Amino acid sequence: MYSADSEPMTATSRTADGIAIRLSAIVNDAAELALIDPALFSGVGLMRTEFLMTSPAEALDEERHYEIYRQALRWAGGAPVTIRMLDLGGDKPLPGVGGKTGESSMGLRGIRFLLARPELARIQARALLRAAARGTLDVLLPMVTVPDELEAMRAIFEAESDALIRRGVEVHMPEIGVMVEVPAAALMLDRFSRSAFFSFGTNDLAQYLMAAAREDQTVATLYDAAAPAVLRLIVQGVAAAEAMNRPIGICGEMASEPRHLPGLLAAGLRHFSVVPNRIADVRSVIAGLRSDGRAQKG
Ligand code: PEP
Ligand code: MG
Repeated sequence: MYSADSEPMTATSRTADGIAIRLSAIVNDAAELALIDPALFSGVGLMRTEFLMTSPAEALDEERHYEIYRQALRWAGGAPVTIRMLDLGGDKPLPGVGGKTGESSMGLRGIRFLLARPELARIQARALLRAAARGTLDVLLPMVTVPDELEAMRAIFEAESDALIRRGVEVHMPEIGVMVEVPAAALMLDRFSRSAFFSFGTNDLAQYLMAAAREDQTVATLYDAAAPAVLRLIVQGVAAAEAMNRPIGICGEMASEPRHLPGLLAAGLRHFSVVPNRIADVRSVIAGLRSDGRAQKG
């Protein structure tokens, strides 16, 4: 289990001035759940489903999707679980389904890929609709660039929900939220009023904003999730989401890095998704910071 052996921890984290910060888990693999203590997290903030499917047969198997989502809901024990739809293509190919190694990260990936292969999106939507009837499950859409993509995916969920209900299957329409990882979407967040919530994907937001590929070591100094341009966009996005009364959090890896926490708190973020083995560090750093990101004196 990932847990600190010193002081007892709970799912609630507080800044030095007493502001509650929600810390959720980032999960890449269902097997990982057995190693993570759910008591340390407020549910799952990001479940990457592309790594759960290792073959075309698995990606196209609605029951397999459903079972994994149920497993995550059981693990969370009533806390919200945010499942991200398949982010295939770009740097995440799945041979036989889509994408190829070395493909551009600005090509057919994430929601673009799902809308180009709607049969895949429909399978996943059905599993998500069924699982959402069994617990608090939210759906996150990767690589959204324009509001029409959100609308198109919502239409797929509506159609699949109607079809399942006609067959007498129990479903629940989950909250559907947008990942903020493409600069155009980040700048225009106010246009996404149909997004139930938002989550910053700073791993990608940084690469697109800085024009520096995340896997390219030759531009590693430019690829900086905490660059002033990225932080400015985060500040703007938080303000836009608040004006729309929509929750906004972060599921990029920078929220697992203590050195970035002051900037993220100062930007107004209060919900962080964290890599499980960093939870103790993140919690203790937050406890020493004020909610404006400054260190607590004395
Ligand atoms: C991100 O881009 O910040 C993110 C969480 O998604 P991924 O790392 O899977 O692209
Ligand atoms: Mg991403």
